[in-house]
Amino acid sequence: MTQNHDNSYVPYTSVEFPDSAWMAQFRRRILAWFRRNARDLPWRRTRDAYAIWVSEIMLQQTQVVTVIDYFERFLAAFPSIADLAAADEQEVLRLWEGLGYYRRARQLHAAARVIVAEHQGRFPREPEQIRGLPGIGRYTAGAIASIGWDAREPILEANTIRVFSRLLAYRGDPQKNAGQQRLWEFAAGVLPKRDTGLFNQALMELGSEICTPRGPLCDQCPVRALCPTFRLGLQDEIPLPKRKTKYEDRHEAAVLVRRGDRVVLRRCGPEERWAGLWDFPRFPVTARRGESLSQQLERALEELTGLKVEAGRKLATIKHGVTRFRITLDCYEADWTGGRLGRNRDVRWVEIAALEDYPLSVTGRQLSRLIPPASL
Ligand code: SF4
Repeated sequence: MTQNHDNSYVPYTSVEFPDSAWMAQFRRRILAWFRRNARDLPWRRTRDAYAIWVSEIMLQQTQVVTVIDYFERFLAAFPSIADLAAADEQEVLRLWEGLGYYRRARQLHAAARVIVAEHQGRFPREPEQIRGLPGIGRYTAGAIASIGWDAREPILEANTIRVFSRLLAYRGDPQKNAGQQRLWEFAAGVLPKRDTGLFNQALMELGSEICTPRGPLCDQCPVRALCPTFRLGLQDEIPLPKRKTKYEDRHEAAVLVRRGDRVVLRRCGPEERWAGLWDFPRFPVTARRGESLSQQLERALEELTGLKVEAGRKLATIKHGVTRFRITLDCYEADWTGGRLGRNRDVRWVEIAALEDYPLSVTGRQLSRLIPPASL
């Protein structure tokens, strides 16, 4: 950053880094602030790499308040890497149910198996080995190593991208390659020699609690005096806003096929939205000439499961969003009239009472709660 003759700072997209006096003051202030203000979170009470790893994976795309219960239940069920590796994937997904982004759970499980097979069940310490594990990228590896054993590893995630962009008054797009490179360099340069775990957590805490995306609490910020974005009043412009997601509307139907006290469940395939989870048979609603909705439902059900059914009444309409899709899901009852499921193990009749044991998609769980009491 350079200073003009009128004493104002000019923000660049290719920023220069602040000098060592700035860095030293920044470290001192943020560490002192974090020691006084850190929230008491369950994963902050340990330096066990496994627990930190689980928390970091859960916290990706998910808020802290949501993660706390899931984290405690998960560690109670699988207290060690070996326990997780020995578990069935269905158990892991059941505990993850509702957290979303289920790929995270499958990769965590797969990585636990790699650690048992290749590292005697102990979380590896070599950066290359850590990053070689399924689902662990540069950020997660840095977070585990710094928080777990104070390795001198930088981090960059949503909160620190925002904090660093503002501390550097970086006007470019922080998501693009050039921006990422600069911010990673800054993350490495600003790291202290000691207490790197505390320092990295302090940065994330500052981003989450003070330097928020909209309306940052600059008057409470411990590094306000060092912040060019505050000085220039550019908090609303830095970082550059992300491009708005274009949403797509979808119309789908789910069918609750009953036969006595059992219903049909189908496991989503590896390429599907909820890969590995179970759901009621579900398909897109498309307009076909001369075909009523009931006929479409019966045809689609037979194609998907091999069963013949008679479509019944609509139970509910659930509106929900998944990534860029805004979905309207109409849920119907249907009675089994014939046909068999065949040998496909991913479609099965399940006792209604056993539905609790199955990892279901979010809407699958909602629909399971709508099963009319008369059929229980
Ligand atoms: Fe963020 Fe404001 Fe602190 Fe700058 S002064 S780091 S914009 S909270």
